[in-house]
Amino acid sequence: MIRTRIAPSPTGKDLHIGNLYTALINWVFAKKNKGKFIVRIEDTDRQRLILGAEKQILKTLKDFGLEADEDPEKGGPFAPYRQSERINLYQKYAHQLVEKGFAYYCTCSKKRLEKLRKEQQEKKQIPRYDGHCRNLNLSRSYLENKKISYVIRLKVPKDKKIVVNDLIRGQIVFKSNDLDDQILLKSDGFPTYHLAVVIDDYFMQISHVIRAEEWLSSTPKHILLYQAFDWPLPIFCHLPILRNPDRSKLSKRKNPVWASCYLKKGFLPQAVLNYLALMGWSHPKQKEIFDLKEFTDVFELKDIQVVGPAFDLVKLEWLNGEWLRKTNNSKLKNQVIEYYQKYHNKNLNHNLVKRIIPLVKERMKKLSDFWFYSQFFFEEPNVDTSIIKNIPYLKDIYQSLLTIKDWKAKKIGQSMQKLVKKLGVKTGDFFMNLRVIITGKEISPPLNESMEVLGKKKCLERVKKIIKN
Ligand code: GLU
Repeated sequence: MIRTRIAPSPTGKDLHIGNLYTALINWVFAKKNKGKFIVRIEDTDRQRLILGAEKQILKTLKDFGLEADEDPEKGGPFAPYRQSERINLYQKYAHQLVEKGFAYYCTCSKKRLEKLRKEQQEKKQIPRYDGHCRNLNLSRSYLENKKISYVIRLKVPKDKKIVVNDLIRGQIVFKSNDLDDQILLKSDGFPTYHLAVVIDDYFMQISHVIRAEEWLSSTPKHILLYQAFDWPLPIFCHLPILRNPDRSKLSKRKNPVWASCYLKKGFLPQAVLNYLALMGWSHPKQKEIFDLKEFTDVFELKDIQVVGPAFDLVKLEWLNGEWLRKTNNSKLKNQVIEYYQKYHNKNLNHNLVKRIIPLVKERMKKLSDFWFYSQFFFEEPNVDTSIIKNIPYLKDIYQSLLTIKDWKAKKIGQSMQKLVKKLGVKTGDFFMNLRVIITGKEISPPLNESMEVLGKKKCLERVKKIIKN
């Protein structure tokens, strides 16, 4: 049985876009193999905990269509899925490790550790624990009777090679002497990530630990724990980290980092997933546009490339535009209406949106572009009269429009062309002026069609308003 998981920490506002990528790969790999995808919330870092983050993370996954089979809200056979509710389990196994000789109690004070760190820094050494308590064989009953505060540390064996077999990176050998005696259980009784992740992945029967590259250096510590417990190893796979186009680590300054921001900005969830799928992986037929189902069908985990792929907003916008054009008009209409309701608190007239969609669809890259192109259908435009005030033929336009009986784009166009000829003015200038009068902007959807949708009355009013000015 294939079981994959993501284990986000609720220490930010939402799911990081990099975590969404990890979620996508875990979800697809599980679905492809008729397995299960699990979300476990790693909330043991109580200082960095952000209220509401867990809810938001689960919601975002749902919004992107990557719902878990088991998670803290819906539960499952290995509940609870929130680490803060599993503390007893971690404590039990941490003490067990001490009993078996794979870990030890450490009572070093903060002060001592700080002093140690300073000294090491001065000597330009990598800061690490010096093993002061490693061979003291402090006993739990002694410490607890005397109420001495302690942590539990991993007793990293000396001179050992630890081999990480990574599904996409192959064999990576670590030297145990380079590893710190990692804290496993903190003095407040909470586990550190390293202890909790191993215990949970084991008890939740995770078959494949697929996570970001940044955790690769932690994996040898985890392997030591698996060995100490005498538990079989899961399969490890460390995904490349998404980067900015200039290769720097994805940062807030260059790209939004929270996954839900992309939905707020008007990207379609399917397009974002499609784009993420292309990070470090390519379609066997070099296709760029495909949906989640197709991705699931053709995806092979081993084909992921390990070089950090560039997350390029411009490319994502392009892809999103392609997705919008692929969507049929009636569905796109609903998406636009829903988007403006949800993110901009606007209730757009359904019928009007329906008529506008065919005019703007080709130009839109994001759902949020809809308003940019079509605001003038819903609101009176603010016309910058300095662009148009010296038009001597405003009244002629008004008269010509007034006489059009059958208010259709074609008729409007013919009538305006006729007028241009009669006036002997430049076509380009004429229509630019008319465009600004009607739409308030120099860029707009096709003018004749827009005027048809806007209606004769409104068009006449807009011309009249300029005449009066
Ligand atoms: N809590 C870690 C994170 O925030 C989980 C790492 C892992 O998947 O092991 O990404």
